[in-house]
Amino acid sequence: MLLPSVIVPISEKGALQGWGGQLGEEMKQQSALPVCVPYTTAMDKMQKRTSKTQLADSWCWRFASEEDRHYHDSEWGVPVHDDARMFEHLSLECLQCGLSWDYVLQRRALFREAFHGFDIDAVASMTSADIERALEVPGILRSPRKLFAIVNNAQHAQELRAEFGSFSNYFWNWTDGKTVLYAGHQKGAIPAYNALSTRIAKDLKKRGFTFVGPTNIYAHLQACGIVCDHNEHCERYVYITQNFPCIHKHRDGEG
Ligand SMILES: [Zn+2]
Repeated sequence: MLLPSVIVPISEKGALQGWGGQLGEEMKQQSALPVCVPYTTAMDKMQKRTSKTQLADSWCWRFASEEDRHYHDSEWGVPVHDDARMFEHLSLECLQCGLSWDYVLQRRALFREAFHGFDIDAVASMTSADIERALEVPGILRSPRKLFAIVNNAQHAQELRAEFGSFSNYFWNWTDGKTVLYAGHQKGAIPAYNALSTRIAKDLKKRGFTFVGPTNIYAHLQACGIVCDHNEHCERYVYITQNFPCIHKHRDGEG
C-alpha cells in the first residue's frame, strides 16, 4: 500500500470520513468497553460458575478472555508514572476506537514490537516506511490512520514532556498527582466520559493529538489510575486506595 512520504497530523473528523469502509468493518466487531460492571451483575454471573469461597475474591468486570482478567487483576487502575507505559495506554485507547478492548489486548505484544515498546522518542521518529512495514506484520491492526496517529501523538508527547517535565506529569497535573474517587462510581455508576476527560481531550486536540475524544481519554484515565473506577468490593479497589494517594470528588459532568 502506498502511503504519504511525510507524516502529517490527521484530524479525528478526517480520519472517520476517510476510513468509512474499514471503520464499518471494525464496528461490526465492537463489544463492551472494559469498564467495571455493577457489582450485583458481576455477582450474578459469578454465582453461576463459582463456589462461595471463590466469591470472596470479588471482581467487578465481565472478562472476555484470560488476558482480560489478568489485565484487570494486575494493571487496570494502578497509577502509572512511566512515560512509555503512559503512552502505551493512550495508544491502545486510540487503537481500540471502534473495536473491542479484548481485540487490542490480544494484540498488545505485536503493537509493542511494532512501536518500539512505546518509547516516545523512538515512535516519534518512525517514518512512513516504518508504518508500512508494521502494517505487514501478521495479525496487526491494518489501519494506517490509527498507526500514523500514534506517530503523530508521539511527536506531540515530546512537546508535552518538554513543557511538563514528563509525559505522565501532564496527565497527573490535572488531579494534583492524586487518584480521583468519584462519588457513586464504587457502586458501579461508571460514565463513558466526564468533565475532566472532556477538558483534557479539548486541550490535547488543541495541541495536535488525534483519536483523543472525551471517551478515549476517560478510558485512559481509568487505565492509568488517575481515576479509580474499580468496584468497592473488588480487591483491586482495596489495593489501590490503600497504597496510593487518592482524593474523593463529587461527580462532574458525567455522560
Ligand atoms: Zn475491579
